[in-house]
Amino acid sequence: MNRAERAPRRTPGRTVVLKAGREKPMRQRHPWIFSGAIESIGHDVENGAVIDVTSTSGEFVARGMVSLRSQITVRILTFDAAETVDAAFWERRLARAFNARPPGGAARCVNAESDGLPGLVVDRYDGFLVLQASAAGIERHKPEIVAALERVASPRGIYERSDVEGRDKEGLAQVTGLLSGEEPPEYLAIDEASHGAPVTLLVDVRNGQKTGTFLDQAENRRLVTTGAKDGDVLNVFSYAGAFALHAARAGARRIVNVDSSARALELSEQTAAHNGLGGRFEHVRADAFDELRRLREAGDRFDLVIVDPPKLARSGAHVDRAARAYKDLARVAMHLTRPGGHLATFSCSGSVSSDLFQKIVWSASLEAARDVQIVRRLGQSSDHPVLLTFPEGEYLKGLLCRVG
Ligand code: SAH
Repeated sequence: MNRAERAPRRTPGRTVVLKAGREKPMRQRHPWIFSGAIESIGHDVENGAVIDVTSTSGEFVARGMVSLRSQITVRILTFDAAETVDAAFWERRLARAFNARPPGGAARCVNAESDGLPGLVVDRYDGFLVLQASAAGIERHKPEIVAALERVASPRGIYERSDVEGRDKEGLAQVTGLLSGEEPPEYLAIDEASHGAPVTLLVDVRNGQKTGTFLDQAENRRLVTTGAKDGDVLNVFSYAGAFALHAARAGARRIVNVDSSARALELSEQTAAHNGLGGRFEHVRADAFDELRRLREAGDRFDLVIVDPPKLARSGAHVDRAARAYKDLARVAMHLTRPGGHLATFSCSGSVSSDLFQKIVWSASLEAARDVQIVRRLGQSSDHPVLLTFPEGEYLKGLLCRVG
């Protein structure tokens, strides 16, 4: 079947009608309605608008935002027929999300579906907010959301980083720029609790990756320092070297950061110097897959190896290829780990489950012929909660392993 055959009918009115018998995921409160579950869409339904979803017999099922171009046609905002989506609604939802985070510090303050705000991410750095909109409905309601954020959080400024994967599927262009308040400075300095003194990260919200840094790994960075004291650390896919800075605070003597981005390594050098830790760092700009092999052949070995690649499986269709790449990385990383040393290996691909990831690392251990123990299971930081009705919200998994 092609897309046109699958496309829901357009009928008079302003509602979205589900196909008969397709209400089950709604009863389970899943926040997405796929196009295949939809019987018809009213002519007056505009892209991004808030509409009611009904059964074929006209009963209210849910209220949500429409994405006419996307396979995810409706993102649900409420299952309560009495709850209207107005300025007070956005303010209420945002306040609930902000109140669920510790006050003040750097945090993901709004985690999209899991905070009842599908398609919206808001990160906070040093009093500034960075907003990421990945759905047509959030794009359409951006002015109201920005006004509500001003009331809820009184930020110094709100900067938009809607240059994010997935906008194209919604028919939205990539946009970045100031939405309100002050323009953020070149770097915002945020502190992460570490061993003894905190680690300060320099966050470039205008040009950095994601919204400026990888907040989802913040709690893991403190946990992944086993074996770092007086040891040699290899930090692969380092970005600005945040994992390595924590290892340095824990007493590592030599740290090698590997990343393919010159900008990331430059930021890493500046950040290490800012923390007074510059002397211990080496920066290698290379493809990680090549560099790991080169290090292995050169006989270099480390006490702690961290492997935190970008998303290698963009969707379920890419899982097999991604699994091979994760295994390849883990196997070579095990070869590079001294006996008794530690390896922290991660996947941020939502379509690679924790179970599958563990199997991948197991398989790598067999190929590497090393006895590998899981010391700690790792996941996304607690400011990236996962709503039980939206298991897709869990994407980051990692294993801290002792490599015998
Ligand atoms: N560990 C980091 C986040 C890593 S994000 C932190 O805690 O902040 C993934 C990084 O991998 C990015 O910096 C990106 O530039 C880099 N990258 C992507 N593909 C790569 C490749 N093939 N080789 C080396 N680095 C790569």
